Amino acid sequence: MYIVKKKIKGKEYYYLNKAVREGGKVLSKNVAYLGKDKKEAEKKAKEIIGSIEKISNAQKRRAKESRKSEKSVSKLEKKELSIEELANFCKKRGFVYASGEIYGGLGGFWDFGHIGVELKKNIKKEWWKFHVQKREDVVGIDGAVITNPKVWQASGHVKSFIDVAVVCKKCGFKTKIDKHELGKVKCEKCDGEYKSIGEFNPMFITQIGPIKKDSVVSYLRPETAQLIFINFKLVQENARMQLPFGIAQIGKVFRNEISPREFLFRSREFEQMEIEYFIEDKMKCPYMDEMKNIKILVYDKKMQEKGKETKIMKIYEACKKKIIRTDWHAYWISKQYQWFIGLGAYSEKFRIRQHLSNEKSHYAIDTWDLEYKFPMGWRELEGFSNRSDYDLKQHQKYSDKSMEVINANGKKILPHVVCEPSLGVERALLVFLFDSYFYDVGRKNVILKLNPKLSPIKAAVFPIVKQAKYIKIAQDIVDDLKEEFNVVYDKSGSIGRRYARNDEIGTPYCITVDDKSPKQKDCTIRNRDDTKQIRVKISDLRGVLRKLINGEIKFEKAGKLVETRVKK
Ligand code: ATP
Repeated sequence: MYIVKKKIKGKEYYYLNKAVREGGKVLSKNVAYLGKDKKEAEKKAKEIIGSIEKISNAQKRRAKESRKSEKSVSKLEKKELSIEELANFCKKRGFVYASGEIYGGLGGFWDFGHIGVELKKNIKKEWWKFHVQKREDVVGIDGAVITNPKVWQASGHVKSFIDVAVVCKKCGFKTKIDKHELGKVKCEKCDGEYKSIGEFNPMFITQIGPIKKDSVVSYLRPETAQLIFINFKLVQENARMQLPFGIAQIGKVFRNEISPREFLFRSREFEQMEIEYFIEDKMKCPYMDEMKNIKILVYDKKMQEKGKETKIMKIYEACKKKIIRTDWHAYWISKQYQWFIGLGAYSEKFRIRQHLSNEKSHYAIDTWDLEYKFPMGWRELEGFSNRSDYDLKQHQKYSDKSMEVINANGKKILPHVVCEPSLGVERALLVFLFDSYFYDVGRKNVILKLNPKLSPIKAAVFPIVKQAKYIKIAQDIVDDLKEEFNVVYDKSGSIGRRYARNDEIGTPYCITVDDKSPKQKDCTIRNRDDTKQIRVKISDLRGVLRKLINGEIKFEKAGKLVETRVKK
């Protein structure tokens, strides 16, 4: 940098300029105005040059430190968290907050933060893709949260959706149990005896119409299923569906749980992803070959009654041996299990358990739960009820409208729901978080190894240092990628810090614009799980990222592998 003197109308002015190379020419570019006095100008120039050098040295130092921290050995350890630890993590990283936290929260209600909302959306998107979009025999609906109250009378929810509220005589723990369990089950906290404090219906009551005397009492839906049953005929006719077929729905449900607890596991407001699969009674499942080799821990009624251990079995075999009564039931259990495993959940943490006779809901003739080994123990993740023709029959009776369809022989029949997979979005979210939570002892930070399809942010883009030429390229990349993916631009902190921040929320890829990028028109992509890096042309980036997220290409094959020396 050098001082330039300019004479304008007889007066002298001093400027600080620097030489820059542009298009093969060397140009003199103005950096700062230094005033009219030569001595003052020299002093100012010295100060400016000093501070510019300071900034650039700091940037160089930070880049060096980042590279160094990235080169320390990556050693991932699986961490098993308690439900409270997970709740803390979720709060700190923007996944989930207690609803209305500034007012002390409200039991059983949760708000999803800027990261949590994306994870939840991705879970729902993947579920819909797997169960609706990719199938010919399932279509979706989106029903109302509040519907005609007659629906809940017909379905039996007003009369029979009854829990018994109990309190432990020893420790005072409050919970709900099934009517038939009173006197049989012990307190889950201290093994003490429960005492009934009355029966209750967990449906939230609401008033339709603002003027009380003219209003009608209805309910916030406690399950999405009924909205499928009441729309059954419309959907079947308009979508021209032939048996067997399914109707799927994802949406909010509300249950006034007596004792909401264990973070998202037992909430009062949550979302369900459900399918009602309709068949003609006794119709065979034509898809059994798809699930021939799927094994899972099985815990049927007999094993539970005789105090026997669970047994690992092929679901197919369990069906052949009539442990699972119908092929459709076995098929849908295996499909759901496959969905979880395909998205990275751990197979050894799942089992299927048959409901005992006194556990079943009022509408069910056989129910299995897909259970997951939560830190609190084995718990229901998803229910699979055989609802037979109960619901359609009830609605036919109460509405006086036919729910029958014409079968292949031209006969009118009432379809059966031989299996209803019903999964809570929040419980699925817990599973994916528990199973992806790792700690890197080398880099000393959390790595959330979420399947990229579920990752809230697909890529973070950084300029290596905060200089205009890198910032511009990084921002252009972000603008382009945002057309298709949820990506972020991140320029604050060292590169190492930026990697760590993104590892912790499960961002699978970090894209860096470095000193080679302006000339080579490329950038690096760093893989979250093993910190390997590849160089990719910026013009190919969107396509490469798409293939990586969809698992269509191996990371090492997606670009030119960058040699990074690892410090042992
Ligand atoms: P639980 O026995 O745990 O109370 P349930 O048998 O009443 O559950 P279902 O009526 O079968 O549950 O509901 C289907 C799914 O909805 C469950 O498998 C679960 O994933 C989810 N679910 C049910 N209740 C809750 C709740 N209070 N909070 C979060 N998710 C829930």
